[in-house]
Amino acid sequence: MTQPLDPQNRKFATKLIHFGSEIDETTGASSVPIYQASTFHHHDIFNPPTHDYSRSGNPTRQALEDYIALLEGGAKGYAFPSGMSAISTAFLLFSAGDHVIVTEDVYGGTYRFLTTILSRMNIETTFVDMTDLDQVKSALQANTKGIFMETPSNPTLKITDIAAVASWAKEHGLLTMLDNTFMTPYHQRPIELGVDLVLHSATKFLGGHSDVLAGLAVTATEELGRQVKYLQNGMGSVLSTQESWLLMRGMKTLEARMAHSEKSAIQLAKWLEQEPSISKVYYPGLENHPGREIHEKQSAGYGAVVSFDVGSGERAKKVLNKVKYPLVAVSLGAVESILSYPAMMSHASMPREVRLEKGITDGLLRYSVGLEHIEDLIADLANALQED
Ligand SMILES: *Cc1c(COP(=O)(O)O)cnc(C)c1O
Repeated sequence: MTQPLDPQNRKFATKLIHFGSEIDETTGASSVPIYQASTFHHHDIFNPPTHDYSRSGNPTRQALEDYIALLEGGAKGYAFPSGMSAISTAFLLFSAGDHVIVTEDVYGGTYRFLTTILSRMNIETTFVDMTDLDQVKSALQANTKGIFMETPSNPTLKITDIAAVASWAKEHGLLTMLDNTFMTPYHQRPIELGVDLVLHSATKFLGGHSDVLAGLAVTATEELGRQVKYLQNGMGSVLSTQESWLLMRGMKTLEARMAHSEKSAIQLAKWLEQEPSISKVYYPGLENHPGREIHEKQSAGYGAVVSFDVGSGERAKKVLNKVKYPLVAVSLGAVESILSYPAMMSHASMPREVRLEKGITDGLLRYSVGLEHIEDLIADLANALQED
């Protein structure tokens, strides 16, 4: 008999399939049962059941929460009804009067939450260019309590040195948080680099099929886990059992999907780079991408999102109307390719000058590469780019 291997020592692909609750212990069923129950009977009032009410804990959600904690190499995981729900809950670890340093390229929804909702709670934020550690350092105030990173950032894929920021933050007793949506734990595991709290929009690559909205949080320590759980339970921000099950169903193929999409994304980026009519291509896997070396130090891959500039808003709109394969939509990280137009979608609410300063021009498109054959995707895009 071989001894059961420690789950933490399994390779990532094996963890995705063998995560602990993949077989139902009672029946041997091949997937986690959906415990569609709001409350749990106390067989013995002196010995309460593990779960007593589904807002505080549900076995299906628990399986998902343990699953993401294992994948990120963290102590505790928590599942929320959306990425924004996970992120907004995490920011409530801070109190009125606290200050947080945030990457200036943060996801639009996070920016909106911080500047129009959290600001009313008197929690102050400073946005800095996190590719530059000196800018991070000079944002430190007496009341600074935390740092929020997102790398690669959206849509121009700027790179933050995670370990450098985390170790500086630790010296100053700051809580570090990182939105790991674009890379997923398959490519990048921030807790191993010193980050305290990892956040996800699981709506994207983790779910992977554009059919579930969910958020996940993973803490480096049990103690931080207790604090996040207290907020989650106190505010009632829990993912439903059906959605928990569907998300786990999607996550099992994460490596197969990411590996395939990344391979295609590299091909797409290289093709775009040699296209004379494309003025700029953003992809961390390209030779000349700023921050590429830092990215390679902290991530095992480049992901499946490629942004590129077609030169003008007029041309961008033509391409969006002509492409046949990608979904023209917000969101990313699915089996089908998704083509987004940041200027009119994710960054529409940003003043034009601010947008342009960040390189989010009227001609910028963001391509999330799916599982279609790359030759078809390139032929389709080449056709859409053709001037008529
Ligand atoms: C989509 C997204 C979010 C928000 O997640 P929702 O599931 O839509 O609430 C947060 N961060 C990043 C990087 C995202 O792409």
